[in-house]
Amino acid sequence: MLRVQEHYEYLHTIPEAGLQEYKTAAYVADQLEQAGFSVQRGVNGSTGVVGVYDSGLPGPVLGIRADMDALTHHIQGKTVQRHTCGHDGHCAMLLAAAEASLQKRLVHKGKLKIIFQPAEELGIGAKLMVEGGVVDDVNILLGMHVRPIQECRKGEVIQAMLYSASAKITAVIHGMQAHGARPHLGINAIDGAVAAVSAVNAIHMDPSVSFSAKCTRFLADSGVTNAIPGEAAIVFDIRAQYNEIMKELRGKMIQAIQAGAATVGATADIDISEGCPAAELDPDITKRLGCIITDTLGEKACKPPMTTPGGEDFFWYVIKRPRIKAGFTGLGVDAQPGLHHPDMHFDVPSLENGVRIHMASIVEFLQ
Ligand SMILES: [Zn+2]
Ligand SMILES: [Zn+2]
Repeated sequence: MLRVQEHYEYLHTIPEAGLQEYKTAAYVADQLEQAGFSVQRGVNGSTGVVGVYDSGLPGPVLGIRADMDALTHHIQGKTVQRHTCGHDGHCAMLLAAAEASLQKRLVHKGKLKIIFQPAEELGIGAKLMVEGGVVDDVNILLGMHVRPIQECRKGEVIQAMLYSASAKITAVIHGMQAHGARPHLGINAIDGAVAAVSAVNAIHMDPSVSFSAKCTRFLADSGVTNAIPGEAAIVFDIRAQYNEIMKELRGKMIQAIQAGAATVGATADIDISEGCPAAELDPDITKRLGCIITDTLGEKACKPPMTTPGGEDFFWYVIKRPRIKAGFTGLGVDAQPGLHHPDMHFDVPSLENGVRIHMASIVEFLQ
């Protein structure tokens, strides 16, 4: 009997923000221990949990990762945590698959590592786990995310999710304050910021590869309206389909912001957040996941790889430990109206398909 529904129902009632997943972590750790895994809690000082089952026989180390955090929403004047990205479903599926794989003795060789990661939404959980040494011995790493109804339907599974790279660029534009009557004696930071935004909007790259760069915050206020403001702060959200394209875009962003500000004699201090890298998936693992989906749920269930402008911090595992071969599937659960929407809901029984994919993956790589 798969306990996915039971796990989901409990985890759904205890949504916790990134790095504060205390109850969630305690629950998954206790359940893993009861199932027969040796469990490490509080990985690298965080709420991360790892369960290991060693067959004692030579073979690959297979890691399967789920994220534990909920999102913080502001609803009707209240700040609340809610599982609007489906991470409670991810934990429930992985936990149910982990238990069943030991009960049914599915691990015949190598080692199975069950990884519960904190703070995916903050973009820092995967890096904390890597720095904690969690994937140092992992050969194959798998991830899975529930998908919105627009991307795939319940009963379907996307063979590979090709997430995009994303980052945030903060720029402080420095001009020179002056009296509103004597603008020629100052440098208007707003003019510099506007020029920087225009220069960014004029960035062109290979149009056959998707990317985007847009200003998402623009702050300037000297406190009075009859003076020339000396400082402005602007933020850009940038995305690119591949890590190489992201590198090129970052370079062009710095050039555009600095050159834009310089057109009025202003200067720019630029800070780029690390963000999330784009998907780096192993073609062989992706192919084998396709076969697993077809064998488990039928040929019609297997959907081809899908590109998404969304970000996922999972790929830090691969960027930081490039010898890992990774696979990442998208599970159809009819999630609507959309992920991160405060009213996001989905077809809970569909989670059983995810459990079956996890179990079939354990069979594929550890038998
Ligand atoms: Zn999310
Ligand atoms: Zn998510």
